[in-house]
Amino acid sequence: MEEKKEKKPTTTDAGIPVASDEFSLTVGPDGPILLQDHYLMEQMANFNREMIPDRQPHAKGSGAFGYFKVTKDVSAYTKAAVFQPGTKTDVLIRFSTVAGESGSPDTWRDVRGFAVKFYTTEGNYDMVGNNTPVFFIRDPMKFQHFIHSQKRRADSGLRDSDMQWDFWSLSPETAHQVTILMSDRGVPRSYRHMNGYASHTFMWYNAKKERFWVKYHFKTNQGIENIHQEEADKISGVDADYHRRDLFEAIKKGNYPSWTLKVQIMPFEEAETYRFNPFDLTKVWPHGDYPLHEVGQLVLNRNPSDFHTEIEQAAFEPNSLPPGIGPSPDKMLLARLISYADAHRARLGVNYKQVPVNRPKAPVHSYSKGGAMRIENVSDPVYAPNSKGGPEADPKRYPEVGWSAAGEFIRAAYTKRKDDDDFVQAGTLVRKVMNNAQRDLLVSNVVGSLKGVSEPVLQRAFEYWKNIDKDIGDRIIKGVKGG
Ligand code: NDP
Repeated sequence: MEEKKEKKPTTTDAGIPVASDEFSLTVGPDGPILLQDHYLMEQMANFNREMIPDRQPHAKGSGAFGYFKVTKDVSAYTKAAVFQPGTKTDVLIRFSTVAGESGSPDTWRDVRGFAVKFYTTEGNYDMVGNNTPVFFIRDPMKFQHFIHSQKRRADSGLRDSDMQWDFWSLSPETAHQVTILMSDRGVPRSYRHMNGYASHTFMWYNAKKERFWVKYHFKTNQGIENIHQEEADKISGVDADYHRRDLFEAIKKGNYPSWTLKVQIMPFEEAETYRFNPFDLTKVWPHGDYPLHEVGQLVLNRNPSDFHTEIEQAAFEPNSLPPGIGPSPDKMLLARLISYADAHRARLGVNYKQVPVNRPKAPVHSYSKGGAMRIENVSDPVYAPNSKGGPEADPKRYPEVGWSAAGEFIRAAYTKRKDDDDFVQAGTLVRKVMNNAQRDLLVSNVVGSLKGVSEPVLQRAFEYWKNIDKDIGDRIIKGVKGG
């Protein structure tokens, strides 16, 4: 027998049952609308306020929930609870593109964001990675300029390859990331078919306060799959949400995507003499120097039920580092430790960590109080030190672990190491990692992207590619000039 469900009456936001979902309150059936129709006013007013500002950048994104399970023992390197053997931790992931707005096509050529929130027993641990192991620049002073150059012009409001290549060709440190972007991996088949990298170098320390430098690699268990430019262009026109749809439908069908987390580990002292600056975000640590060590499995098995509250309002911040994990002297990372939380305060308000998706599962005993839209009650005492039984920091259990630095105040590039060069790792990728088919795709993607680029930017772009690889550079010139 079918169970009879009692229908829920529509109410206002105050829970008051309403008389109609269909008709506004009027003076007679043909008369004017009455101001006292509060339900209509509330519907109109709320509708006008539904949208919140886009993220700047990484506006278009998709997300899902799941877990991370530690399968190997890395406790000799970090005491972080989330990485202790056998530990299982709830996670949230948000994938994104970088330059497009919130309705832009998922299949535009772009770097993809790969942000992970681990709801650990020692507070939230956020990783704000990408699907590439490096980034375009290494000093945060250039970040705002870089993003402006990839987004829209002031006059026409159009995106502009001339502007993109102007910035790239004047900034040779972009060569490695641009090579990856223009490679077959520049448009992944789906969010499930790409790797994730925390990209920055982080510090790990164990229970004995021994320190190590680490790089995180989330290797897709679905295998790498990419979309060629022509197909990507077609998909952009017919399904702007191609990657969002793929992720949601895969999880809905129980086809849960997963990644194997591996780390490269560098002994603390080796950073001083390593042939590349290990904190330069435009460089990788070659696997031959620092092999990958497995840590665990990340599995996504639950879709959001309200995209807005759970994904649009999700706030990841790389400053959220639990005990056992710390920042490195990577200048980009150090700036991001400040700018992400600032962006969330600007976009969501100061109490954004009380939005359920951002709320830690570990207990919070901070002395923060007040602020717009606070929903967690604060209790006395509201200051420290106090003799009233308030929370107390425990420096013995949670000592500050860092690194030392000295020098004059200066504005300068990183000191160069023996093998530091802006083009060397991009060249290795082109010559040693890519096969002929991948090199062909690289050339055709760059030639396509240089369409409409004017002089002197075009000439500089040619020189840039010749510096990466003479042969690839010559082929690009030929392709652009139609030879
Ligand atoms: P390896 O031969 O040990 O590894 C090559 C790496 O390149 C693999 O991680 C592979 O990823 C990745 N790769 C393959 N095709 C592409 C592509 N089109 N775009 C980006 N990455 C790709 O080499 P090394 O460690 O000695 O590094 C050589 C070059 O490989 C580097 O200069 C760098 O450009 C690139 N690379 C290196 C990484 C590192 O951390 N060492 C990470 C990613 C790229 P997968 O195994 O998942 O297929």
